[in-house]
Amino acid sequence: MGQTTKDSDRRIGRRALLIGGAAAAVGTAVLARDELGRLWWRLPSVEKPRKEGEVDFRGARWVAASSANWRMADRPDDYGIDRVIIHVTQGSYASAVKVFQDPGHGAATHYIVRQDGRVTQMIRELDVAFHAGNRAFNERSVGIEHEGFVDRPKDFTDAMYEASARLTARICARYDLPVDREHIIGHVEVPGTDHTDPGPHWDWDRYIPMVRRAAARATAEPSRGSA
Ligand SMILES: [Zn+2]
Repeated sequence: MGQTTKDSDRRIGRRALLIGGAAAAVGTAVLARDELGRLWWRLPSVEKPRKEGEVDFRGARWVAASSANWRMADRPDDYGIDRVIIHVTQGSYASAVKVFQDPGHGAATHYIVRQDGRVTQMIRELDVAFHAGNRAFNERSVGIEHEGFVDRPKDFTDAMYEASARLTARICARYDLPVDREHIIGHVEVPGTDHTDPGPHWDWDRYIPMVRRAAARATAEPSRGSA
């Protein structure tokens, strides 16, 4: 227990140091509560526990993205999560994994859903993935890629929609997001983006009710898929 006390003393010391520096940088002794919250992710001692290969969605396969394509954070404590952003890869699953592992690519999503319904996670939901082309939206969203091309409607398979709906339902449940088009958007809807995905063939009128049904099933069986 003596060790514990020492550890917490050290934490307080580092915290005081950090806040002092930040306050000096902004030229005021008073920082908004929001700003203080955002500084916490810089402190290794307050990071949430992480285990190698751990996923946020049960059954997902873990394949790590290059650390150049995301930023470590402590969501939803430092940044609240208020959106799911739907993407289409414009290429194969393998090509998406390859670019997300490429430190020069500068972008990656948290998840990729394949045409056969398999789900890969490449970045933890705790962390900020660079996927929306808009910093504020990156900080507050979870990004999901779907394997296919925007101009090939047959790429959007039943298995892909089903798996994606289950994944989005879990994300909405985890962060208490309403299942609607305000909180589940396409990349094309992000302010400032020049991307068009998921494109005109992504069937929102089918997808949103699927997410609602998946959410209802998860609520009825709370012990399942509660990763
Ligand atoms: Zn996109």
